[in-house]
Parts: sequence; C-alpha cells; structure tokens
Amino acid sequence: MNITNASRKYEASCHCQLVRYSVTLSPPLEDLDSWVVECNCSICARNGYLNVYVQNECIQFETIGLDNELVEKYRFGKQRVQHYFCSRCGSSLMAESIEPGFYEGVKALNVRMFEGVDVRTLQRREIDGKSL
Ligand SMILES: [Zn+2]
Repeated sequence: MNITNASRKYEASCHCQLVRYSVTLSPPLEDLDSWVVECNCSICARNGYLNVYVQNECIQFETIGLDNELVEKYRFGKQRVQHYFCSRCGSSLMAESIEPGFYEGVKALNVRMFEGVDVRTLQRREIDGKSL
C-alpha cells in the first residue's frame, strides 16, 4: 500500500463560472490510492456524477455559496440528500446529506467540475446506489 501525506488543491466551477470553489484533497485524485465513485442510482446515472467525498472544511467557495438563490436545490425519495445545480448553466455541482447524523459535514463533489483533471485517467469505484 502506498501511504502518502500529499495533498493537492483543485479549482472547480460550474460551466458559466457563477459558482466557483476550491478544494484540497488528500490524497490527490492522481494518487494510486485515490478513486472516484461512479454510482448507478437514478440521479447519478442521469447526471454522470463522478464523486469524491470531502469534509466541508476542505471546501472554499469563491463566488457564491450554496445558500444563494441562484443555486438550485433538488431532493427526492427519502429527502435526505440535497443536490445542487447552477441555475444558469445547469451544471451538477455537488450533493450533501441534510439529515442530522447522516453523513454530516461531508459533501459529495462532482469531479467533472474540477479544472485540469482528465476524468478518463482516474480510478473509478462503482457503487450500486440503485439497490440502496
Ligand atoms: Zn453555471
């Protein structure tokens, strides 16, 4: 196993740049022990999410935050998870649990929003969200 303390800061944004943020990932996406989640649930399948799970403290919003009215919110099913989209360009930004105690303090970031990352080179881990 390749244990590393390396981290890397990534810049991310929706397509129209209305929502921009940076995030520090440790280990970096390019690390051999790093992977992104590809899920087959009804929303991930439609939006093509490739997710990494990150503590809120690692994310810094540079333009507007998720509470801004220009960021669309969407929930479905058990209503436990809220998804965020840019209201202008439609980019699927991220999701988080809004139920206390259920993945609290963590966001699922869509790495397709990251700049300078070739998603084809990332290791993927498939999860069967459809069956959950
Ligand atoms: Zn946008």
